[in-house]
Amino acid sequence: MANIPHIELNDGRLIPQLGYGVFKVPAEETERAVSEALEVGYRHIDTAAIYGNERGVGAAIAASGIARDELFITTKLWNDRHDGDQPDAAVSESLDKLGLDAVDLYLVHWPTPAKDNFVHAWEKMIGIRDRGLARSIGVSNHLVEHLEKIVAATDVVPAVNQIELHPAYQQRDITAWAQSHGTVIESWGPLGQGKYDLFDAAPVVAAAEATGKSPAQVVLRWHLQKGYVVFPKSVRRARLEENIDLFDVELTAEQMAAIDAMDPGDGSGRVGAHPTELN
Ligand code: NAD
Repeated sequence: MANIPHIELNDGRLIPQLGYGVFKVPAEETERAVSEALEVGYRHIDTAAIYGNERGVGAAIAASGIARDELFITTKLWNDRHDGDQPDAAVSESLDKLGLDAVDLYLVHWPTPAKDNFVHAWEKMIGIRDRGLARSIGVSNHLVEHLEKIVAATDVVPAVNQIELHPAYQQRDITAWAQSHGTVIESWGPLGQGKYDLFDAAPVVAAAEATGKSPAQVVLRWHLQKGYVVFPKSVRRARLEENIDLFDVELTAEQMAAIDAMDPGDGSGRVGAHPTELN
């Protein structure tokens, strides 16, 4: 079984650097897919209330017999639950579906800046952590301007910021903020969600040929060597196995630099929604 490294969060807790994400895994397929992922050796699962598959994740956890402290489970607060005491209700619903007393990581899914309620949502997250319902708390899709506001209001720095990130879209302003504030970056869409042709890019193909790994493995290895947490999604067992088989190679500094240079720098590599647009 793969020996997956852990990263220390700013609250002292450890997160497995590689996990399995279940965005768009249909509810009826989730228990099987997560059970397979656990069999293959994944111990970190990334879900969200809006994915509609927390019950399937919970069923797979319960059936696995794996000790709770060997698992790292993340879920997320959806955009229509930021106001008032809604975050408290939302985390209880998620825990009920997951069959857990606490998640390892709870994230504000999007800042929804037009509603101007992300600072309130973050204050509620701090209460959720303090009551032990989430061991660590963080955010997702937060731009630097949002991060600055929540930290100024609360003095609590998110343990993670989960953002769209892959070689063609590297969000360097956010990763620089994260580095200087001790926030761990989680890359969503690490393979460009299959919408951006990363696998035929010359630096990826060259590194794949040199290492004997697939282009997808090279891209995932790039994330790991950048220090990002990553949880590629697939419902195929062969790909689950491929995406965890990353720990017997190391990209050279030259290979890393060539992949670093793949971002056109004008934002055109983005494949998902922009945080200011989703409210
Ligand atoms: P991804 O980049 O992981 O792409 C997934 C697609 O890549 C799969 O559908 C499959 O077609 C392909 N793929 C997977 N493994 C492959 C392989 N070895 N070779 C070739 N193709 C392969 O995109 P994603 O699923 O959107 O992102 C991963 C996870 O990030 C999600 O499952 C979810 O947990 C999280 N996520 C979070 C947000 C957010 O707003 N916070 C948004 C999207 C995704």
